Amino acid sequence: MTDNGNSGAVPAAARAKGIFIDNQWRPANSGKVIDVYAPGDGVAFAQIAAGDAADIDLAVAAARRAFETGVWSRLAAFERGRLLSKLGLAVLDHAEELAHLEARDTGKPITQARADILACARYFEFYGGAADKFHGETIPFMKGYMVATEHEPHGVTGHIIPWNYPAQMFGRSLAPALATGNATVMKPAEDACLTTLRLAELAAEVGFPEGAINVVPGLGVEAGAALISHPGVGFVSFTGSPEVGVLVQTEAARNHISCTLELGGKSPQIVFADVDLDAALPSLVNAIVQNAGQTCSAGSRLLVERAAYDRVIEAVVDRFSTLQAGTPEMDLDLGALINLRQKKRVETFIAQAQEAGIPLLAQGSIADGAPTSGYYVAPRLFGPVPRASTLAREEVFGPVLSVIPFDEEADAVALANGTDFGLIAGVWTQDSKRGARVARQIHGGQVFVNAYGAGGGIELPFGGIRKSGHGREKGMAALHDFTTLKTIIIKHD
Ligand code: NAP
Ligand code: MG
Repeated sequence: MTDNGNSGAVPAAARAKGIFIDNQWRPANSGKVIDVYAPGDGVAFAQIAAGDAADIDLAVAAARRAFETGVWSRLAAFERGRLLSKLGLAVLDHAEELAHLEARDTGKPITQARADILACARYFEFYGGAADKFHGETIPFMKGYMVATEHEPHGVTGHIIPWNYPAQMFGRSLAPALATGNATVMKPAEDACLTTLRLAELAAEVGFPEGAINVVPGLGVEAGAALISHPGVGFVSFTGSPEVGVLVQTEAARNHISCTLELGGKSPQIVFADVDLDAALPSLVNAIVQNAGQTCSAGSRLLVERAAYDRVIEAVVDRFSTLQAGTPEMDLDLGALINLRQKKRVETFIAQAQEAGIPLLAQGSIADGAPTSGYYVAPRLFGPVPRASTLAREEVFGPVLSVIPFDEEADAVALANGTDFGLIAGVWTQDSKRGARVARQIHGGQVFVNAYGAGGGIELPFGGIRKSGHGREKGMAALHDFTTLKTIIIKHD
């Protein structure tokens, strides 16, 4: 048994990929490796190097060289942009290879993995195009002065990402940092990081200079902890749990640097009685089924106006009952959870809900032929879920949807805003005035009206408030977070 609760043996032929520093593979300083398990069958199929503080030191030093010698940071903005765009094209050229690797490593259906790889490419395309269009301004000041602002990179940026969307996160976190001239060190999650290593290799192949992108796999408590506390790092971008988010922010405070935290949520979908149910239904269900619910922006609370409760629930129950979990190749509605620990965590939420007497409205199934050694959980629909219950308030990070009825608009808004989180929300109504009014009252980073799903919107600023974190990723907004603003004041008369 390993730390993540998996079991099994690595095939003798599997070779550790190593750590990617200065465009080269090297073993972990300690010589240690970590077995990599396929969630779909629970079998170890590869190994990664177990990076620790010594490897992080080397990676940060490599990134510092790329930044300080200027081989990366002093390229013209359009040249950095061109390299990012080339990487986007290389990702598209290798899309099938990457999608299969991602699907095996994370357990997700191959169609979802293909979408993730396309999104990864889009990040490099978008920020490739943005690199030379993100500029400062001149400010009218007193007579005899010229004032200009300039966006300066932080230097070396540290990136800690989770296992749910490694390829997408590689693009989302690194592309805007690189576009603005930072040199980067990424610590991906030990549970799924194979595509991030391959993407770093592709970046070297298309011409990224040594030290611009360094990837150090390893345990969070070792490599991750070393990266977030490293004095050579000027900014940290973290996506993961609120608990580790607190550690990241604490270390950032110690080093007097800033950070962005993207920590998940308990996002509501608010369904008013005038909903166009045929249009809404696929999104209402997919929002929790996508990636087996292991999505920071999962729509895990379904808030339904009581006047339409029976009609909406009947439709959702029908759809939920048909959902099936299976291997990446079966390509069904959802795949396995990432590891045994996550599966047990989700099953505990389900057992507690049942012990508390919360009605189970519908349950999907695990497909015949899905290996029993895989980490599958059949999707569950619970409702009505008491507002104060754990299920109504805490992030499950699994395929569990909680239905909660509400009585009128103000109640819906209070309910939507009534958790510690605030990431995204959906509002479903055919009354456009109400859609706008409610959207403006929701606490969070993104609100969809008659739509839902944060994944594809590369252009759209994204992030949370409170326990969902702070800072904005995606869109032009991310470029602000990855830079600091300098004002130059010149007296010329
Ligand atoms: P986690 O521990 O926060 O992991 C996220 C990343 O942080 C991983 O790369 C992890 O490394 C690293 N990490 C862990 N401890 C660290 C430390 N002390 N210092 C620096 N980095 C550290 O999340 P998890 O344990 O995988 O999942 C637990 C729960 O977090 C989930 O059930 C879910 O509720 C939430 N979660 C949210 C998101 C999201 O997208 N917002 C993503 C994942 C999980 P290793 O995993 O390699 O050790
Ligand atoms: Mg963890």
